[in-house]
Amino acid sequence: MGLLSLGTPFDWKQTKIYADEIRKRGVKQFCNIHRKIKDRKNDCLKWGDEVEFTLVKFDHKNKKCYLLLKADEILPTLQGPENRDEKCLTLWRPEYANYMVEATPGAPYQHKTSCFNRVEANMKLRRKQVQDILGEDEYILSVTAFPWLGCSNFTFPNFKPTPGEGITTSLFYCDQAIYAGHPRFHCLTKNIRERRNRKVDINVPIFVDQNTPRPFIEDLNQYGDDPRPDSESKLASKPDHIYLDAMGFGMGCSCLQMTFQAQSLEEARHLYDQLTPLTPIMLALSASSPIWRGYLSDVDCRWNIISASCDDRTLEEKGLEPLKENRFVINKSRYGNIDSYLCEENQKYNDLTLIKDEELFQDLVQNGVDESLAKHIAHLFIRDPLVVFEEKLYINDDEETDHFENIQSTNWQNMRFKPPPINSSIGWRVEFRPTEVQMTDFENAALVTFIVLITRAILSFKLNLIMPLSKVDQNMETAQKRDACLNGKFFFRKNIQTDNGTECELTEMSVNEIVNGNDQFPGFIHIINEYLSHLDVDVDTQCTIKQYLHFIEERASGKLMTTAAWIRKFVRSHSEYKKDSKINEEINYDLMWRIYLISTGQIKCPELLNSYETKSTI
Ligand code: ADP
Ligand code: MG
Ligand code: MG
Ligand code: MG
Ligand code: MG
Repeated sequence: MGLLSLGTPFDWKQTKIYADEIRKRGVKQFCNIHRKIKDRKNDCLKWGDEVEFTLVKFDHKNKKCYLLLKADEILPTLQGPENRDEKCLTLWRPEYANYMVEATPGAPYQHKTSCFNRVEANMKLRRKQVQDILGEDEYILSVTAFPWLGCSNFTFPNFKPTPGEGITTSLFYCDQAIYAGHPRFHCLTKNIRERRNRKVDINVPIFVDQNTPRPFIEDLNQYGDDPRPDSESKLASKPDHIYLDAMGFGMGCSCLQMTFQAQSLEEARHLYDQLTPLTPIMLALSASSPIWRGYLSDVDCRWNIISASCDDRTLEEKGLEPLKENRFVINKSRYGNIDSYLCEENQKYNDLTLIKDEELFQDLVQNGVDESLAKHIAHLFIRDPLVVFEEKLYINDDEETDHFENIQSTNWQNMRFKPPPINSSIGWRVEFRPTEVQMTDFENAALVTFIVLITRAILSFKLNLIMPLSKVDQNMETAQKRDACLNGKFFFRKNIQTDNGTECELTEMSVNEIVNGNDQFPGFIHIINEYLSHLDVDVDTQCTIKQYLHFIEERASGKLMTTAAWIRKFVRSHSEYKKDSKINEEINYDLMWRIYLISTGQIKCPELLNSYETKSTI
């Protein structure tokens, strides 16, 4: 999210007053960046990953595992070297929850292939840096969604949720779980809720097992719901679904992101477009979140949950009431899939309705921004700012970009187009955002390496992956379904070699076919190997890459399980599991402890990892 501005944030009523001005000035700030830097060329290919980690505490005697609310306590130590301007191998950032910390390498990696030897070791170092400063029975894990999230006593120290009161007003999620070391996260939560004029509502389909009650309907009064039969929660919750009512159920999950610097604005737009069709494939391949609030669900991924958890649309904007107060009916949450490609030649594949702010669009075009890019920005800027700091209202639009970043950083999409910060040496970047975090550094490093190599192959072989965006949306839905990595069929271009005509002919393929190929389609592993064969790669690096690619190949083919499939199997074969979709605290404890042992290499898990060797030197 870039730099976190500090100060006193406005409440929603005040924020609303400044929304138009912030949008107008945010666009002006973008135009300034664009005017100054649009022609910059020859930035080198750099990239970096972000891993979000989860802090937990075990109670071995009572077989319990809690989310440890300690980020505020350990972040000052982790950020010490950076704050003292020392050379850093890792950088640390706060995240939404006080049980989360985010880390990146100290500096982005460069174009040399030998950097792939450092990725996993750097991730290991991050884990160690945290582990070293944690207390007894406290551990750092990398899991997408904590199974017991939002269940009774899910945090340490323990706090009770405050239904109808406080920041979240949730039946399940206590406000103390939100990171309070910076006002942004409380403010986001409260202002999204107040903007919508109701709690967020998320309904995750339940996994129906042998003894799951049908229909599956929870008595919400047991969680302290307003006892009236038409309470907000009762109206929002759906039968046969796991009901969630807090931003923390989505933003309190962890993911794995990668940012790439391109050589120029044009190349960044090109990469943004080309990587978009891969977002559903990587989501399916990285699926790791089948349990929600203690229930086995019928989905394997967090995507729709986090999307709903950040959905600030009013009933008018959702098209459920006639427009009076609001300006647009909006088809998606501000957390979701992109709505337009950025390159001129891909505009014909923008088959989704693109809502944009017409006045800002005109401002952009009049300032020399071409229509495709202007549309993208004017679409992001249909949203209201959510967090506005009084101290940051009146800034110099020629020198600062806070208002642009304000709207940009609260449009959370599968791809993000990142303009350079003003007056910096950083170039045009794109961020790949859908991937779920894996429990081991090996898997995370493998996924990161795979995507980085795909970007190189796309650029050097001039591949063309573009398909209509409506198909990307459909693929994102497919990707989240239970066992999609094994059984899902995804729309994909029959031919990704650009010189074979420009028409886009689609076929449906499994993740296995897309990754490993079939008699019609080469598969990305083959394409990457082809790319690598043109390079002079040292032996050590070759071995590293080979292991990662082999792992991806086996995950895609189903020879290795996805994390989600493995978690399902763990639960369903646990002696405490009653085949009723319900996870109890002991299952949660055993699962988290097993994950801890696997992630530290103390036990092997061939179903997930075969016998791959992890890299531990830095
Ligand atoms: P955000 O949260 O906004 O996505 P972060 O700073 O947390 O941003 O992460 C950005 C990632 O981009 C890090 O992995 C970092 O190493 C990487 N990065 C930093 N500078 C560059 C650059 N010039 N080009 C490419 N990647 C970069
Ligand atoms: Mg970040
Ligand atoms: Mg974030
Ligand atoms: Mg993050
Ligand atoms: Mg990021």
